[in-house]
Amino acid sequence: MVKKRKSRGRAKSGKGRSDLVHCSKCGALVPRDKAIKVTVRYSPVDPTLAKELREKGAYVPVTYVTKYYCVSCAVHYGVVKVRSEEERKLPGRFTRR
Ligand SMILES: [Zn+2]
Repeated sequence: MVKKRKSRGRAKSGKGRSDLVHCSKCGALVPRDKAIKVTVRYSPVDPTLAKELREKGAYVPVTYVTKYYCVSCAVHYGVVKVRSEEERKLPGRFTRR
């Protein structure tokens, strides 16, 4: 079988079916192991202001927002990039330096 990617674009190996998740941008149903998961630190307070508040001893909550993207949206919004033929064989999807 000719493979474009070593993992066939998923992290499934021999496990059969996996749960579906909704893409955060377009709402498409994507298998969880195929979807691109991005966790971002989110704070409603401006970073410089948060630093000052923390110095004064205030508690500034930080929440982590996890989003799933379908492959189309991830490529469109620049979360992952289209990789060259050799690069595709490497494990992982996120561009490494
Ligand atoms: Zn999408």
